[in-house]
Amino acid sequence: MIDLCSQESKPMLSIDEALARIKTAIQPITGSETVTLKNALGRVLAEQIYSSVNSPFERNAAMDGYAFSSANINKDQPFTLNLIGTSWAGKPFKGTLLAGQCIRIFTGAVLPSEADSVIMQEQVVAKGQTIHFSAHTALGKHIREVGEDIKQGSLVYASPKKLNAIDLGLLASLGIYEVTVKRLVRIAFFSTGDELTELGKPLASGQIYDSNRYTLNGLLNDPNYCITDMGVIADNKQLLEASFIEASTKHDVIISTGGASVGEADFVKEVLSRCGEVDFWKIAIKPGKPLAFGKIGECCFFGLPGNPVAVVVTFKYIVATALKQLSGAPELKSLQLTAICKSVLKKSPGRQEYQRGILTQDINGKYFVESSGKQDSNILSSISQANCFIVLPIECNGVQIGNEVRVDLIGETI
Ligand code: AMP
Ligand code: MG
Repeated sequence: MIDLCSQESKPMLSIDEALARIKTAIQPITGSETVTLKNALGRVLAEQIYSSVNSPFERNAAMDGYAFSSANINKDQPFTLNLIGTSWAGKPFKGTLLAGQCIRIFTGAVLPSEADSVIMQEQVVAKGQTIHFSAHTALGKHIREVGEDIKQGSLVYASPKKLNAIDLGLLASLGIYEVTVKRLVRIAFFSTGDELTELGKPLASGQIYDSNRYTLNGLLNDPNYCITDMGVIADNKQLLEASFIEASTKHDVIISTGGASVGEADFVKEVLSRCGEVDFWKIAIKPGKPLAFGKIGECCFFGLPGNPVAVVVTFKYIVATALKQLSGAPELKSLQLTAICKSVLKKSPGRQEYQRGILTQDINGKYFVESSGKQDSNILSSISQANCFIVLPIECNGVQIGNEVRVDLIGETI
């Protein structure tokens, strides 16, 4: 851990350095729990899953038609077969299929063991019990073989893996109705600031509504997280310390917003360095420079800045990455897009900037981006209108119209 006083004079950490330090400092949670498939969407698998059955379980028809054995049939000539029964999905044909015979069969219905061909109903002419097949009928087709999707005993999913809707369907197709997943990450969050007012109350002079907790509540909407909203804590060192300590005993992560910079009423860093260990508290990004990261015992804390846009940026680029790592989810690199910039963007070298932009695609598939408006870190309307961040590296000193820029999409929960 870093001595706070000596860090004052050190250059700010780049975002990559900050992420590397977080990666070293936190370990994926090890606890697990068993959940039913219906409750497993988005959860991180904590077991290897092997199939105890073949899928398909039995040979069956891939389409509606007629099934028969092609032994003794000369496919170069038209032929006729005698219809002796039907195999329905869920109600198999019980008899034996002999040479010269066929059955009516429907998609998903079990094939008699003697059958090796299914011919589409559209390709035959049925006259009573006599079915006419044309020359060059494609034999040996339209059969789903046992285990052709998944073989009995094979590894279906290796841990860790985040389960999506398709995975749930696949597991259900194998008869698996519950899975062992990583336990929930327990996250507490609160706002700090004497000026913050709860929604539903009128604003007195000097007060503002606490919007950050609503942003965080949305950003933390993830099936792997169990969140505790601790409300607003005043700018008071004792109260702050008590809140951090109390939260650290029951949670894996604490996220606070506000009070993280170096103003007279910014106590978060000081309090955290008293009750825990601050790993770093300044990153070379804009918005979001003052961001305290460290640990109180086993609990990680993120002291985010108070400015509402800085909360979104630091959450997206730092906290979300750390929470994913903690949840045990496999690391996924998000797609990076490049777009032609249609606005002049002001920037001075020194910090990596995340400017709010509107990304569009022309009919040739080419991406264009323009600024979504004022870029100050208190302006929520321009981030609300944005669908991406324009990412400008530390050394960049502005963008002209026509320059290529990197853009990261803004998703529903970032
Ligand atoms: P601070 O980091 O406490 O110095 O706050 C920086 C700015 O963000 C100030 O203008 C605060 O009023 C504002 N701010 C702090 N916390 C919140 C919050 N929870 N919701 C909205 N704005 C906030
Ligand atoms: Mg404050």
